[in-house]
Amino acid sequence: MSHIIGIDLGTTNSLCGVFLGDKPRLIPNALGKMLTPSVVAVLEDGQILVGEAARELRVTQPDRCASTFKRLMGSDARVEMAGRAFTAPELSSMVLKSLKADAEKFLAEEVTDAVITVPAYFNDNQRKATKVAGELAGLKVRRIINEPTAAALTYGFHDRNAEKKLIVVDLGGGTFDVTLMEVFEGTLEIVSTSGESFLGGEDFTNRLVSVILKQLGMQLELAELQEPLRVARLRQQCEDAKRRLSEQTDVEVKVPEKDGTLPEKARTVKINRETFAAAVKPLLDRIAGPIGKALRDGRSEAQEVDDVILVGGATRMLPLVDFVRDYFGREPEATFNPDEVVCLGAAVQAALIADNRAVDDMVMTDVCPFTLGVNTAKEMGGQVKTGYFVPIIHRNTTIPVSKEHVFSTMVPNQQEVLVDVYQGENRKVENNLKIGELRVTGVPPGPAGQEIYIRFTYDLNGILEVEAYVAKSEKKFRAVLTQHAADLTDAELEAAVANLQTLKYYPREDQANQKLLRFAERMVGEVSPYQREQFEDAIDMFEQAMGTGDRETVENARSTLEQILAMLGIDPDQASGGASFE
Ligand code: ADP
Ligand code: MG
Repeated sequence: MSHIIGIDLGTTNSLCGVFLGDKPRLIPNALGKMLTPSVVAVLEDGQILVGEAARELRVTQPDRCASTFKRLMGSDARVEMAGRAFTAPELSSMVLKSLKADAEKFLAEEVTDAVITVPAYFNDNQRKATKVAGELAGLKVRRIINEPTAAALTYGFHDRNAEKKLIVVDLGGGTFDVTLMEVFEGTLEIVSTSGESFLGGEDFTNRLVSVILKQLGMQLELAELQEPLRVARLRQQCEDAKRRLSEQTDVEVKVPEKDGTLPEKARTVKINRETFAAAVKPLLDRIAGPIGKALRDGRSEAQEVDDVILVGGATRMLPLVDFVRDYFGREPEATFNPDEVVCLGAAVQAALIADNRAVDDMVMTDVCPFTLGVNTAKEMGGQVKTGYFVPIIHRNTTIPVSKEHVFSTMVPNQQEVLVDVYQGENRKVENNLKIGELRVTGVPPGPAGQEIYIRFTYDLNGILEVEAYVAKSEKKFRAVLTQHAADLTDAELEAAVANLQTLKYYPREDQANQKLLRFAERMVGEVSPYQREQFEDAIDMFEQAMGTGDRETVENARSTLEQILAMLGIDPDQASGGASFE
């Protein structure tokens, strides 16, 4: 049987891994890197570009590019890219396709099956959208697993004889997750999980942008509208500065012009670690909430946790590490690279699904991350009040789980009942998220109080199925949750696949050239005027050479361009502006 790959489909970066021999390992992309930026672009000739080259292009031609679309998963939103509109699953499928191609190259076999990770806090629609993305990429999604669970699997796999309480703190580009778990005799039990879906490293970068703009007498929201190019470029500078602050005590940030260019004599603002720590204090306060909640749900105290595991690129930030150390009173674990641990766990999960012998002593149980229930009316003091949330599956219940609840009709001869399905923790449905509805029709005539059974089944993928039946009629109804486009019919899926098939992907073997070209283009504005002409000539020559498709011509032009870059003291692999993630 061919291998099942494990994929960490991140907001910022995505990774692909596989279980080979007796351990999980990562698969390099066409550039030899493990991290593929989750950025896609459409080139002038209509070809699709994924990863680092697309991220370079985003700086100079944002209209051709799309990024952070993971945040739109499960919504009906469309993203414009080079004049065409795409859904989040379509854009994600481009990233997945690229990872699939990398895996096929690496394994020298066709890859058809995958395990994909999602934030624990992803709701039903978002999980389904992720599955759709996989299908659009030609992958059978064997399992959707929670990112912190995957991270825990990596630690559990390597430390199988341990008996301890672990907490995974995952701060990625745009989401924050925290998960408490216990390991004993090869069994990994997820105890509780919590998080925030709009809190991540990007918010820390934004704090920095805001602080700098403030020093210049500007306000972020306003500047974003009035000077979008300046803000976009400054954000990139700040992203870079934020990373450097993980190594250095202070950094200088160059402030771009209004048109987004960065002249040599650009104004600079100095930021030190203290300024940064103060600027992000409100964000750190928000991190405490979900940690406390996970501990409370798991009936644990911070001091009882044996290991604190940091996951996600943003946990490299020192203020975050300081905060976590203070909170738990211990030094966090750093055995695995925080960028890689989720993907490695997805590969372990893939091995579990494939019944790989190397993991046959491992057992893993997961939980449902949020409460699922329905909207009901309550009678209070003779008055009927609507909009109350009645939980059917409580948060942090071990999955898979199936629970039934009995409801009754409110009025005599009521023929129809609308079951509105919600997730959330509030007693009023208006404060929770509606994830779908089920219309139960044909209730036989009779007095009020006829019984209707509602069953919720939450599977290992974290996908919910709702069933209802009327006790008297034995008539069964199954939920088709129609809230969002995430549920595609077979015909719709086929149409989407056909639509995507009209797109051609940029050849895998030429991606390094494309990345260099886009990187060089971005650097044009940053070299001094008297060097610029020669630099641009070399870029033109390289671009033309790439157009000829003749390998030798391309190699020659590439080496000329590389020499000029070296002369200018620009190292493409040490590119600033967040171009290098390792
Ligand atoms: P996601 O899971 O959302 O794809 P990642 O785990 O790749 O995200 O983390 C991306 C975030 O990590 C970004 O916000 C990025 O700025 C941040 N990050 C990466 N490296 C560093 C670093 N050295 N210092 C500070 N932040 C970093
Ligand atoms: Mg992640």
